[in-house]
Amino acid sequence: MDKTVLSQRIAQRVKEEGGRVFYVGGFVRDFLLGVENKDIDIEVHGITPEKLKEILEEFGEPLSFGKSFGVYSLRGYDIDIAMPRRERAIGKGHRDFEIDVDPFIGLKEAARRRDFTINALMKDVLSGEIVDSFGGLEDLKNKVLRCVDEKTFVEDPLRVLRAAQFASRFRFSIEERTRDLCKAIDLSTLHKSRVEEELKKALLKSDSPSVFFTSLLEMDQLKYWFRELEDLVGLRQDPLYHPEGDVFVHTMEVLDRGCAYLHKVREPYAFMLLCLSHDLGKILTTEEIDGRIHSYGHEIKGLGLIRTFLNRFTEEKDPLKYVLNMTPLHMRPFSLAAARSSVKSTNRVFDEALQPEDLIYFSLADKGDKAKKEEIDFLFRRYEIYREYMERDYVKGSDLIEAGLKPDEKFSQILDYAHKLRLAGVNKDAALKQTLAYAKKL
Ligand code: ATP
Ligand code: MG
Repeated sequence: MDKTVLSQRIAQRVKEEGGRVFYVGGFVRDFLLGVENKDIDIEVHGITPEKLKEILEEFGEPLSFGKSFGVYSLRGYDIDIAMPRRERAIGKGHRDFEIDVDPFIGLKEAARRRDFTINALMKDVLSGEIVDSFGGLEDLKNKVLRCVDEKTFVEDPLRVLRAAQFASRFRFSIEERTRDLCKAIDLSTLHKSRVEEELKKALLKSDSPSVFFTSLLEMDQLKYWFRELEDLVGLRQDPLYHPEGDVFVHTMEVLDRGCAYLHKVREPYAFMLLCLSHDLGKILTTEEIDGRIHSYGHEIKGLGLIRTFLNRFTEEKDPLKYVLNMTPLHMRPFSLAAARSSVKSTNRVFDEALQPEDLIYFSLADKGDKAKKEEIDFLFRRYEIYREYMERDYVKGSDLIEAGLKPDEKFSQILDYAHKLRLAGVNKDAALKQTLAYAKKL
């Protein structure tokens, strides 16, 4: 059964028992915005939790993973079925709430625990009626993020990141009072996984991820989780190469250009993290020499800083590996293109990169409209050549052993030599002969 049909059947049964069922949260907001959203959350009013469980049993196996929170789902369906509740803060953290499930508190009280007015809209599953207790429709129309309840908004620090995340995804502005409240909230108690979750939505679901960071900057909230980005603000660059301004401004532009390549790159999240952190090394290396601003070696010297930065909010090893591998290479494609370097040189750079094609897309995002068409064409042509070389047969360890070599301590050096010949386009027979001659010399 389709999730919408299931919701309607449940709503029908709840109605027969005297209650009402609403779509809530992002599903209603996105429906009104005309944006696709497959995450259905429903809220059941006016019947007891026991009655709800009985009804759900008619449709399948209710999973009461959040029973004490009044949240259910049905096995095989990815749908959240919740009961209205009141939340009272009992600590400073995102999860430090005492929860009272109460199906009879009414629509407005139930919506009060939500973060923003646009997320507090409800839609009757059966009649389609929109219930707007806090002015969400008006705020949707005016593209404004406004907190539902000024008194309780500050109780959950995650809402600061959610404000920035929705601002970037929907290009909404954060209402002044809400922004002021956000300024005073301490984000240090958040768990890193929650920070990363909001960050990921901003990086992967937005056409202007920069707004996530500029909103946080405006709220003085880069300072805990993204403090290195704050150090980029006001960090000068040579105006000849970077007329756009400081390193922060440049990084924001790279993010916004980068997200246009998300459908092409192999590792979207890691790619965006590369856009975000590729120039952190400038914090350590920027200096003025003879009236010109330089940041020599920033692509290498920043690796420690990048590691610290990324580890603060991610446990994932692969994106970290990717960013640490690609950052040192990040300026190479265009220097190769400018010099019209040899195939051997372009092959070596592509070979060093974990995702050579992503490296090209990154360098396009980094360069922006300073990239010349001939250079871009050059890079993609060279990448094709690289791929073609990589498809050819080549000298493997087993070939060398067959030819009488022993896999001793020199073996990997010999294999490296064979690999270089492969990158230079030497065919297998010739490469085997040359490699064996090299091994003999060793
Ligand atoms: P998305 O499209 O990113 O899923 P969403 O609004 O559906 O957006 P969810 O995290 O799925 O976001 O949360 C669903 C709803 O729960 C929200 O619309 C909001 O009403 C409420 N909500 C979620 N997190 C919070 C929070 N930290 N504080 C208050 N309300 C919240
Ligand atoms: Mg959602």
